[in-house]
Amino acid sequence: MPAYDQSNIFAKILRGEIPCHKVYEDDKALAFLDIMPRAPGHTLVIPKSPARNILDVAPDDLAHVMKLAQRIAKVSVDVFGADGVTLQQFSESAGGQVVFHLHVHVIPRKEGIALKPPASVKEAPDVLKEQAAKLAAALA
Ligand code: 5GP
Repeated sequence: MPAYDQSNIFAKILRGEIPCHKVYEDDKALAFLDIMPRAPGHTLVIPKSPARNILDVAPDDLAHVMKLAQRIAKVSVDVFGADGVTLQQFSESAGGQVVFHLHVHVIPRKEGIALKPPASVKEAPDVLKEQAAKLAAALA
């Protein structure tokens, strides 16, 4: 497996070099909205440690990320009036990974509504801002 590359887009978000619509942050993890959501409220949960994916992340960091993913899943059902939630995690290109910093997708789902294709439509920044504020308030 290749080494962790500090120039990936999520490393830049962690360093504050590019902005994100933050949902939650603590000392070990960050959660923010996907800019090309597959459904409203699509959130990415990442560790602050430099892990490439499931194959190299420290188990404790993964556990922390998954606990936060569960919290966000529960809250997003209320905030987005969802009927269910889809969690996804891709590792390496062969596994469908595009950005090489470990992330868990938390996607609120409504009955009978299919996911949009990956990376298909960029959401308007004002929509993401409002959704992130609602999720952040529900998590506070
Ligand atoms: P994966 O690596 O699991 O296939 O997916 C990477 C995800 O990152 C995609 O869902 C894509 O929409 C999202 N993404 C790509 N670039 C950015 C970005 O600059 N900001 C945010 N918030 N999400 C991004």
